[in-house]
Amino acid sequence: MNVKQNFIGGEWVAGQGKPNLNPSDINDVVGSYANGTARDVETAIAAARSAFPAWSMLDPQSRSEMLERIATEILARREELADLLSREEGKVVREALGEVTRAGNIFRFFAGECLRQSGELLASVRPGVQVEITREPVGVVSIVTPWNFPIAIPAWKIAPALAYGNCVVFKPAELVPGCAWELTDIIQRAGVPAGVFNLVIGKGSELGDALLGTGVDAITFTGSVGVGNTILRNASAKGIKVQLEMGGKNGLVVLDDADLDVAVAVALDGSFFSTGQRCTASSRLIVQNGIHDRFVERLAEAMARQVVGDARDPQTTIGPVVDGKQLEIDLGYIDIARQDGGRLFAGGARPEASRQGFYLAPTLFTETTSQMRINQEEVFGPVASVIRVRDYEEALEVCNGVDVGLCAGICTTSLKYAAHFKRHADVGMVMVNLPTAGVDYHVPFGGRKRSSFGPREQGRYAAEFFTTVKTAYVRAG
Ligand code: NAP
Ligand code: MG
Repeated sequence: MNVKQNFIGGEWVAGQGKPNLNPSDINDVVGSYANGTARDVETAIAAARSAFPAWSMLDPQSRSEMLERIATEILARREELADLLSREEGKVVREALGEVTRAGNIFRFFAGECLRQSGELLASVRPGVQVEITREPVGVVSIVTPWNFPIAIPAWKIAPALAYGNCVVFKPAELVPGCAWELTDIIQRAGVPAGVFNLVIGKGSELGDALLGTGVDAITFTGSVGVGNTILRNASAKGIKVQLEMGGKNGLVVLDDADLDVAVAVALDGSFFSTGQRCTASSRLIVQNGIHDRFVERLAEAMARQVVGDARDPQTTIGPVVDGKQLEIDLGYIDIARQDGGRLFAGGARPEASRQGFYLAPTLFTETTSQMRINQEEVFGPVASVIRVRDYEEALEVCNGVDVGLCAGICTTSLKYAAHFKRHADVGMVMVNLPTAGVDYHVPFGGRKRSSFGPREQGRYAAEFFTTVKTAYVRAG
């Protein structure tokens, strides 16, 4: 099998290959992909450094046209790319198509942003002097991404990095090199100059230090809290600018006055779609006493109607877990929740006749309490737990009672509670009568507490991380 190679300094670089497996059917090998080394990362950083002076000074029209070409090709090939995404990650085709479309739209948005960069002009406190505030690129940026959004997360980091004039060393998650490779191929054919964009596929644990090597100015990371904290420590010690998006333990509050159909649909989507493998998944369902029994009954019925199976089968609504390691983690948490006194209300086991893939039935626990591990630690699988609460005040307290704060949701028909929740949920993103997962591509994304560090991603807010501010004082004559 041909090895899909790394892309460094404008060249595809030969190296050892590693198989990429389909989680829906482990007998299906998606392809053989490079296994890069720390040396490859060093070469990529050097290439990015030498490309930076010309790229950072390039006119915005040229940059915009390149990003527009990338957007156009992604959107034109969306079905083929969605199939690859589905095959290597296990996201069902409908969701994969949505993700690829999002990636294309993100490049299009930042093609526009190239032409909208602006500054400020102020009068100085000193007579005859003007103050100009402008933004310049940060420099060489390392980009490290997780496996759960194999094309959208790379897109929302790479597009602003390039739009604002930075050079990139991109290290995708080891489990999903396919989408990263295709995206790289599209970027290089769009006319991005050699060295501006580099791809190094390989193991994070082996490449992590090199990605913070001499010549790197900033690192943007999405992934787990543990790895994020290591990157934060190491980058800070070297004076490298850091942006981190990490885990969640997102609460969805369902009040007695909620529309039951809306609440059930919102919970089903937020908790179980994408196999629960979204940082924005609703893993805690915080439900008021008066609606509790009807809600869990109806949610369990909706769960029973889901089709767990091969991600590329159009009938499937919930695909496999991404790999054997993640499946072990999910099953481990199901045991923990049981032992801690949770009641297994639905799911909990692997469907029969699914040995060739990493399938797990959507799983619901009831009668859990906020302090149980199932309600404090991120599972990252199709597992949700219900916490019964007395009133809105208790619901809010439970919702905020975790050390992460990515997003939170509320289902209610009360304007009073919705408005209070929007202001008091200690998170970066709040949803009212909508799933906690599922966000627009043109507005800021990010969390609070241990979920995030540094400036927000996406939309115009992306400029904060990918540029650095310059203040110039000018006296005429
Ligand atoms: P992960 O294990 O933290 O890995 C994320 C990335 O970091 C991968 O590319 C990984 O490479 C790399 N990595 C591993 N060790 C490293 C090191 N020492 N130095 C530098 N990079 C290293 O996370 P994951 O399992 O891929 O993704 C799941 C996690 O991502 C969940 O916690 C989820 O909540 C979070 N997530 C957050 C957001 C958000 O925006 N807040 C979005 C999506 C996902 P390898 O693949 O080679 O290990
Ligand atoms: Mg794979």
